[in-house]
Amino acid sequence: MININPKTAIFFDLDDTLFCEHDYVRSGFHAVADYLQKIDNQLDSSTLYEYMLEDWVKNGRGKIFNHLIEEFSVPVEPMNLVQVYREHTPQLSLYSDTDRVVKLLVEKDIPRGLITDGEKGVQWRKIEALGLKQRFPYIIVTDELGKDCWKPSAVPFERAKDLLRGEVQSFIYIGDNPHKDFFTAKKMGFHTIRIIRKTGDHMLTRLSPEYEADEMIESLDELTVNLD
Ligand SMILES: [Mg+2]
Repeated sequence: MININPKTAIFFDLDDTLFCEHDYVRSGFHAVADYLQKIDNQLDSSTLYEYMLEDWVKNGRGKIFNHLIEEFSVPVEPMNLVQVYREHTPQLSLYSDTDRVVKLLVEKDIPRGLITDGEKGVQWRKIEALGLKQRFPYIIVTDELGKDCWKPSAVPFERAKDLLRGEVQSFIYIGDNPHKDFFTAKKMGFHTIRIIRKTGDHMLTRLSPEYEADEMIESLDELTVNLD
């Protein structure tokens, strides 16, 4: 159990910490498939979607749209499809433990925020789709601070501390990716927590101790609020 109190500010990573990022990928594939069917009604949206899923499993993320264009001879550039993918309004939902813990933090008025990497428009659309914009007073989309301010840059963590300076005694950061979520946060005095979920690109990653979090959890339900 991890006790949270109103003198602790709790910041979260977004992707694969609060929701399943693979849901975003699937939502984007649907948007791309629908877009192509509209361009050419000989194309079947669900066939295109299934093709993208298979290619993702077989070959990873890098060249899916190139393969799709080649396979179905569609008259667009890969960049067009990247744009459709990035600009679509995603259909997403929070993990159920996220939903419970966010309700608890809101109800108990615990200082709370997000620190998230990724293209800023994409990240804001995810935040809106998940209903988090109104529920987190402090949202730091690192891309808005500059391309060199993505984690593990110290800049977003400094920003978090500046936003709450004098109001709280300690900071927590919860994320899923040991390549970038904990190394700098720990140096800056954040207590770091790694969540290991069933799904996600980093769940099996294990790095040397300086990159790993202070502790690990498997569910956000392990957080409890202590008002004493
Ligand atoms: Mg993440």
